[in-house]
Amino acid sequence: MHDLIIIGGGPAGLTAGLYAARSKLDAVLYERLVPGGQILTTDWIENYPGFPEGLSGFDLVDRMKQQAERFGLNIENREVTSFRPSGATMTFTTDQGPVEAKAVIFASGATPRKIGIDGESTLTGKGVSYCATCDGPFYRDQEVAVIGGGDTAVEEALFLTKFASRVHLIHRRDKLRAVKLLQERAEAEKKLELVWDTIPTRIMGSAAVEGLALKNVQSGAESTLPVQGVFVFIGYSPNNSLLKEYVELDDNGFVMTNTNMETSIPGVFAAGDIRSKLLRQVSTAVGEGAAAAFAAERYIENL
Ligand code: NAP
Repeated sequence: MHDLIIIGGGPAGLTAGLYAARSKLDAVLYERLVPGGQILTTDWIENYPGFPEGLSGFDLVDRMKQQAERFGLNIENREVTSFRPSGATMTFTTDQGPVEAKAVIFASGATPRKIGIDGESTLTGKGVSYCATCDGPFYRDQEVAVIGGGDTAVEEALFLTKFASRVHLIHRRDKLRAVKLLQERAEAEKKLELVWDTIPTRIMGSAAVEGLALKNVQSGAESTLPVQGVFVFIGYSPNNSLLKEYVELDDNGFVMTNTNMETSIPGVFAAGDIRSKLLRQVSTAVGEGAAAAFAAERYIENL
């Protein structure tokens, strides 16, 4: 039986792994894809302290991974398919067999939310995207729409102006949710058009995106935007399927913890974007990963 299983290899999981490995716990981090999480789809990170010029998401996660492995963290490419807490034993099934541990840290993050309009699912990968870093270069000199008004939508819309001839940012209100600095950048960017009080109603096209149908929520007026790409950034849903039946969640399904990252079940911890909290940042995820590993170590010692 392992001391600790960490599920998810984003900033929270890698930091938890670094702390657990430095404490000489028998810890294993499972990641079903490649370590990195959502920052792998982030082109440039400029608000993580210690890097005054900023750095790419890929670069930051590579450094985190190297640092954790230097202290002996075992990172395995595995998918955990089920989880059951029973007293002091956590039982998992994985795509490579069953595993047991004394404690677990869920750092499995969150997934971009879908908007749920006609054309979204059929045209995903054919012009509908949730990752500007991955798909932006396909839209060189074309027009694209970005849906949302938060930090992600504005940052990604600004990134898309590097390629697209015009980026239409469709927001359902008349004020962006994004931080002031991003609002100012959006207003100053000539290739970016802010479309206020508007919701998308349908994504048009069969083999590829041909346009976006819109509705003004104030006037009720309907219109069509002839875009070739639609990028949806309307927030995230927690990746909670493994533990949602056991632990306390908030109304949106994010995991409730105390300040030591303990969930409602002893020995089950959560860190990073899966947690119920106000601010989802790399800087908050790493702090939570460190706290969760420390609390898990205490918990294991006291068993
Ligand atoms: P968010 O802050 O929850 O914003 C979601 C946006 O989508 C809001 O503007 C919301 O409109 C809109 N929206 C939600 N549902 C919608 C729907 N059904 N139809 C149309 N619009 C809809 O999500 P986020 O921007 O992905 O950010 C998530 C977290 O990551 C935040 O804590 C954010 O600060 C953080 N983040 C930080 C950075 C950074 O620091 N550089 C970068 C990216 C993300 P309303 O405004 O009307 O609610």
